[in-house]
Amino acid sequence: MEYPDRFDVIVIGGGHAGTEAALASARMGCQTLLLTHNIETLGQMSCNPAIGGIGKSHLVKEIDALGGAMGLATDLGGIQFRVLNARKGPAVRATRAQADRVRYKAAVRGMLENQPNLTIFQQAAGDLLVENDTVRGVVTETGIRFHAETVVLCTGTFLGGVIHIGLEQSRGGRAGDPPSNALAQRLRALPFRVDRLKTGTPPRLDAKSVDFSVLEEQPGDSPTPVMSYLGRRDMHPRQVSCHIAHTNERTHEIIFANLDRSPMYSGVIEGVGPRYCPSIEDKMHRFADKASHQIFIEPEGLDTHELYPNGISTSLPFDVQLQVVRSIQGLENAHITRPGYAIEYDFFDPRDLKHSLETKFIHNLFFAGQINGTTGYEEAGAQGLLAGLNAARRAKGLEAWWPRRDEAYLGVLVDDLITLGTKEPYRMFTSRAEYRLLLREDNADLRLTEAGRALGLVDESRWAAFSVKREAIERESARLKASWVQPGSAAAASIEEKTGKPLAREYSLLDLLKRPELGYGDVAHLTGEPVDDEAVAEQVQIQAKYQGYIDRQQDEIDKLKRHEATPLPTDLDYTLVEGLSHEIRQKLAEARPATLAQASRISGVTPAAVSILLIHLKKRR
Ligand code: FAD
Repeated sequence: MEYPDRFDVIVIGGGHAGTEAALASARMGCQTLLLTHNIETLGQMSCNPAIGGIGKSHLVKEIDALGGAMGLATDLGGIQFRVLNARKGPAVRATRAQADRVRYKAAVRGMLENQPNLTIFQQAAGDLLVENDTVRGVVTETGIRFHAETVVLCTGTFLGGVIHIGLEQSRGGRAGDPPSNALAQRLRALPFRVDRLKTGTPPRLDAKSVDFSVLEEQPGDSPTPVMSYLGRRDMHPRQVSCHIAHTNERTHEIIFANLDRSPMYSGVIEGVGPRYCPSIEDKMHRFADKASHQIFIEPEGLDTHELYPNGISTSLPFDVQLQVVRSIQGLENAHITRPGYAIEYDFFDPRDLKHSLETKFIHNLFFAGQINGTTGYEEAGAQGLLAGLNAARRAKGLEAWWPRRDEAYLGVLVDDLITLGTKEPYRMFTSRAEYRLLLREDNADLRLTEAGRALGLVDESRWAAFSVKREAIERESARLKASWVQPGSAAAASIEEKTGKPLAREYSLLDLLKRPELGYGDVAHLTGEPVDDEAVAEQVQIQAKYQGYIDRQQDEIDKLKRHEATPLPTDLDYTLVEGLSHEIRQKLAEARPATLAQASRISGVTPAAVSILLIHLKKRR
């Protein structure tokens, strides 16, 4: 049947990419349909119920700064929060939250159901309506035809999904959910490059059968961090601890003795798995000399006894999984509630996408999430938001929008994917960003919320809260700059006591704050009233301490922008350019770009490589 209402945007899949895509499009005022297999699984975490971590919290905060759901859902569902790398510089600091999977899912569903312009419909999409290389709508597996201007595909691990437990195989999108086979076949008939990837998950344990007395307790941080810029501690449910266990030689012997029963090592699984989230079989292989591996025993929620043993993802047969688990101290009597498994699925080469995440071959069709070869909820959510907003802009007849690499991790993520492609599940790291000092998790709102407001993604209340915060930061920085401490004064004595050095001359509070030994709390009260908003104080401190480095990175970006039109000589011998990798030399020699801007758009030519080219050109002159 033809569905009577026409939509601006249809989003297929209610996972992390799909929910952010649908919410973004609807926030921008587009009539949006979210079509998903099962309304009960909206926002479901397929694997570990945890959000954030290094590189990933940066993406969550960017989603949040653009009005998305993930940060707030984490604050509503988070049962343990920690700041990783807390003692290192702010560029690599990252917030991580263990979530109650039921509360997280409920929070996402609540936001979807309360979002104006958004219609949710439960059914599998089986086909795309395509005319003249342009998508026109979607047909469900029972034959309902929905029409729209644009379609965003966010089907995760479901396309042609095959689940492996030992040498047993079954078809599924993840445990308990059907695969998407009709749609997978349809997509394989279109001109996209398609390949297989795999990922895996550990067995879950019953907490009643675990001896916590021999495990190391890992409480959350105090005071408890928040994830969203609008988050408050009083939103969090009760906070609990995680625990740490360890594999041992016996565990490793069991795994080695059974590798021939692992589908990965017997050649049954062909898809490549995530390098940075390896299975326990992979770890045995790659770190053969290590006598023990850490396992984080993490709660799945407040109202369940199920535990997630983070670090023993496996596709070994169930009898081996049980032996592995029971070989670990504290888990000798553990009961497995769900076996671990690996899943193989289709993904599409992201080099067939534009920066907007629209496909190059089918107009108005966008791909986001695991379907593009990434792994992780955060990577999926960030792409979903970008694809959703661009699908909405296309439906409105507007130009595409995306952030640059120096503006957001989202810019790095999309640029990496569409220029480099990926051979293994791609996850975000701070090391992937050239301008880490600018792209901190603490300033995603200052980088993006204004753009989000202009795009129609940021509502009145977020904009008001952001404006108040931004003004407070400016006001407080100005106050510190204009407040002086004189040698010999009581304020100077306080500084001298903290630093152990005499104050030789007059200093402003802002200059004092630049000293490594002094924090905002040490200086702000010396003259006048400090602010009591922690986020404002933190921002004032980071900006003061890192301004020199931040300015230098900004200069580098400005310099590159200024030199974009610089011509590259046609006879340039790239083998003579010192500091370029062999791969980049080869690509440049083949493509022979006319300008630095053209060079920078060649897949794999990074901003660092462009900078090297610029230096080489200057030396040639
Ligand atoms: P998903 O969360 O998979 O959501 C896809 C959605 O699309 C689902 O709601 C599904 O029902 C719906 N859907 C699919 N096909 C159709 C259709 N035809 N019609 C309608 N709806 C459809 N990530 C990590 O970072 N680390 C890990 O260790 C890790 N391990 C994992 C282990 C397993 C077993 C699985 C399954 C995933 C794992 N992940 C891991 C990946 C993580 O779950 C994904 O990266 C993330 O969920 C991707 O989000 P997504 O929105 O792209 O897709």
